[in-house]
Amino acid sequence: MIDRETVDKILNAVDIVDVVSDFVHLRRRGANYIGLCPFHNEKTPSFSVSRSKGICKCFSCGKGGSAVNFIMEHEQMSYYEALKYLAKKYHIEIKERELTDKEKQEQSERENMLVINEFAMKQFEDNMYNTDEGRNIGLSYFYERGFNDSIIKKFHLGYSMDSSTALYDAIKKHGFNPHFAIETGLCIHNERGYYDRFKGRVMFPVLNIAGKVIAFGGRTLKKEDRAKYVNSPESIIYKKSNELYGLYQAKRGIVNKDKCFLVEGYTDVLSMHQAGIDNVVASSGTSLTEGQIRMIHRFTDNITVLYDGDAAGIKASLRGIDMLLAEGLNVKVLLLPDGDDPDSFAKKHSATEFQDYISAHETDFIRFKTTILLEGLEDDPIKRAAAISDIVKSISVIPSNITRAVYTKECSDKFGIEEKVLVSEVAKAIRKAKSTKEQQNKPEPQEPDKAENTILNAAVTKTPNTKQSPAEKILQPFEHEVARYIAKYGMYEFCDAYDNSGNNKTMTVIEYINTELENDSMTFSFPEFKAIYDKTLSLISEYHTEKEKKEEELADMKKQLEAEGIEHIRNTVDNIDGIQREEAALYDKIDKQIASELTSFQSSFLERRLCSDENDIVRNTAIELVTEKEQLSKIHTKFSSITPESERLNELIPTAILGWKDAILTSGIRKIQEQMKEAAKAGDLQRVQELLATQNSLKSLQQQFAKLLGDRVIIP
Ligand SMILES: [Zn+2]
Repeated sequence: MIDRETVDKILNAVDIVDVVSDFVHLRRRGANYIGLCPFHNEKTPSFSVSRSKGICKCFSCGKGGSAVNFIMEHEQMSYYEALKYLAKKYHIEIKERELTDKEKQEQSERENMLVINEFAMKQFEDNMYNTDEGRNIGLSYFYERGFNDSIIKKFHLGYSMDSSTALYDAIKKHGFNPHFAIETGLCIHNERGYYDRFKGRVMFPVLNIAGKVIAFGGRTLKKEDRAKYVNSPESIIYKKSNELYGLYQAKRGIVNKDKCFLVEGYTDVLSMHQAGIDNVVASSGTSLTEGQIRMIHRFTDNITVLYDGDAAGIKASLRGIDMLLAEGLNVKVLLLPDGDDPDSFAKKHSATEFQDYISAHETDFIRFKTTILLEGLEDDPIKRAAAISDIVKSISVIPSNITRAVYTKECSDKFGIEEKVLVSEVAKAIRKAKSTKEQQNKPEPQEPDKAENTILNAAVTKTPNTKQSPAEKILQPFEHEVARYIAKYGMYEFCDAYDNSGNNKTMTVIEYINTELENDSMTFSFPEFKAIYDKTLSLISEYHTEKEKKEEELADMKKQLEAEGIEHIRNTVDNIDGIQREEAALYDKIDKQIASELTSFQSSFLERRLCSDENDIVRNTAIELVTEKEQLSKIHTKFSSITPESERLNELIPTAILGWKDAILTSGIRKIQEQMKEAAKAGDLQRVQELLATQNSLKSLQQQFAKLLGDRVIIP
């Protein structure tokens, strides 16, 4: 458990753009940032991040939320795990109270597995540098392979002692539950007992995109071992097809250079880093998967695949190129000289030579495929035709029309074939692929992505509330509208009022709504809206304290801005009239700036609190409420000059509440009418009379409302 003060510290420190950028390459668009959604497969970005609101949201699949939500969803963490993750990122010390036995038990399996992997990684590093065996066998191996200490440390390479239970014993000694050593695959349990999987191997930890150790690769140093490499088995924290070796260490480099190199093995990645090429990842021997490609695409559009100069191996992996093209990436290919892989090539050449070789020999996939498929067979018409149709197939999977056209043109030049012939061949290939795909898709009635349960969609407004009677259902849009005003503008100043002792004070939106509801003994009937209302009420006093602090800060800022501005004017303007004019303009400008700072504090304080709240219902409902209609309002401002909602609250909120009250009356009248029918059926005339009287008084009340509301039709 983390105390409230620390939670606030964390939430205040968090910059959502920064948090999301660790996983998604964001580009600036207007006031927001956009990128490819990490939660669904897409080729054009619809994932939008607002720094000022502290919220991210995918306009295509709807996932997103505050930084806490994002981490929860993306890293599959609990609320507290996500907070801890953010605390670590922002170097905030967590004051944690001692966990109870029950809570200890409840700590997730996943977290325990990550902790034990982290422990093992440190243990392996420690073995290698601080034991004789580790230095003589493990470290000397890496040195012989030409790796220096800085690379060894950057990738946390290590050594697993040549003893059956060294790691297992250390795990037990440190009080970890051995169950998790089995789950992660560090240890193996059979009838003979427990023993270490990686006994006597040099260790390559596999980090996920967030830098957590999710698996290991262990390479043997003994000739008699049958398996050169042993890897961690798949587990709830390790899905091989979704991970790329080195991505954590490479992601900044990939973004900075807007390019990613793809190689095969661990040591290829290490060697290239050592040669100063840090934007490189490895598929670790498996053939490339769609999940891996999507990971790369989040950070860049440009990929260069490095192939060893072994023709048979290349032909087998050509399919990978089509997958990259289909994902919309710009694919280049680099063929290394015969017999060299990136690792051995880097060893033979200096860093500059390596980089020069890359820029001189990188080619597009058409030239590459032509070379590979036609080597020495340029004059064989049948081979030529086969190569052309293979390349046409590659071109046909490219999603962008423009890119497709460019490559079609290039292919036409290369083979001397009329362009329009190729265009029609490409179109044919697209149609063919489409019909095969449709046939494949038939047996699946549901898109798996949509069936996926998301924290955002669970337990929130969208789920129909089955307990509500039809009469109460008509209240939903009204309660929703008022709840939205609360979540978005709750702490805005609304009107002047007198408190109990007759002092004039400014009422905030939430205080106004609270008074209105209390006067008529009303409350929210939908639990998710009630939760927003209650939470906001509970934040009022904290808000006022924070606001006072903010106002003091702004007063200081104002003084400073004025002093600086006036000095500047006096130094640059030399006549009294001019000085007066400039000074008036200066004060005006500063006042506006201070006012806007205060407004942004007023709007962000509540939004941030609600959208990061510990309670799932509060948090998820708040996110829904504050993010909706944003697109609509954009359209409004685009086509007409409608006054922004925030400046019409004095009119909008009372109208919304009146509309809600009206709906309550309508729903009351309907209930009475139902009761009247029952009473009439039972022949209870007196009851009918009573009900009729109540109905009439409700109806006359409703007429008064109608007058108040004027002709306005309220449909929130
Ligand atoms: Zn999405």
